[in-house]
Amino acid sequence: MNPDEKIKWEAAGKLAREALHFGKALIKDGKKMLNVTEKIEGYVKENGGKLAFPTNLAVNNVGAHWTPSTKSKDVFKRGDVVKLDVGVHIDGYIGDNALTIEVETNEYSKMIEASREALNVAIDVAAAGVNVGIIGHAVQDKIEQYGYRPIANLTGHRIKRYNLHSGISIPSIRERGGPVLTSGDIVAIEPFVTDGAGRVGGKRNSNIYHLRQIRKIRDEKATKLMIEIRDRYNGLPFAERWLHEIQDDATKNLQKLMRAGVVSYYPVLDELGNGIVAQSEHTLLITNSGNEVLTK
Ligand code: MN
Ligand code: MN
Repeated sequence: MNPDEKIKWEAAGKLAREALHFGKALIKDGKKMLNVTEKIEGYVKENGGKLAFPTNLAVNNVGAHWTPSTKSKDVFKRGDVVKLDVGVHIDGYIGDNALTIEVETNEYSKMIEASREALNVAIDVAAAGVNVGIIGHAVQDKIEQYGYRPIANLTGHRIKRYNLHSGISIPSIRERGGPVLTSGDIVAIEPFVTDGAGRVGGKRNSNIYHLRQIRKIRDEKATKLMIEIRDRYNGLPFAERWLHEIQDDATKNLQKLMRAGVVSYYPVLDELGNGIVAQSEHTLLITNSGNEVLTK
């Protein structure tokens, strides 16, 4: 990796971290999720970044993939276990990080610590020449030491410029072999811990969307929206909320794009055993001697 590129990955990681911790301080009993989300995303833009994906708030049994819609009235409540996941990009260079907050209570401190410590052991072993199965092994061992389960079908991922999930997945479970990390790889590692089944699934709309394809549509405003989505987000996920700065009637036109197969939503991923879920995530630059945590 050339030095200019490295500076950009580091800048994106630093801003992602700052936005995450800015957001952490806003999550309190009675606060509106939509307001908190908009403040975090405003902070990113004011500091020279863009969103690599809509700010995710996954509460209690939700493992991942949810952001408030424009109409959301949801508020944080005492006892909520909130995964806050923030992704920033600067010129396509992405920083992705997450943490878990329990609102006012301490029922799940141990579970949250397990996710943090699992991430730490992953950071201890991640290096060029290491296959991802070794990371999954270390992560699962640590989570089980705490008496919990890893979520098997939520993984970390290699990142490339404008590409959040670029081929390689990093498991939180023991796997044999798997792809080998190389020097210069950017990877997000994100162990998810639960007291439930250890798997997530679901079909509900998360309010997070992605562009699937560009095609001819017989609707002028929907076509304009499709082109704006392509040009603004460059293949990265986007929120329904964001489209209102493009068009007043964006919600209606988004529906048209969905029906035309141009846009799809990501489903909300619920813990299938109704367990509580905790998550910790950092973005790392893999080196020959180990790694550099870019979101630290
Ligand atoms: Mn993330
Ligand atoms: Mn991630």
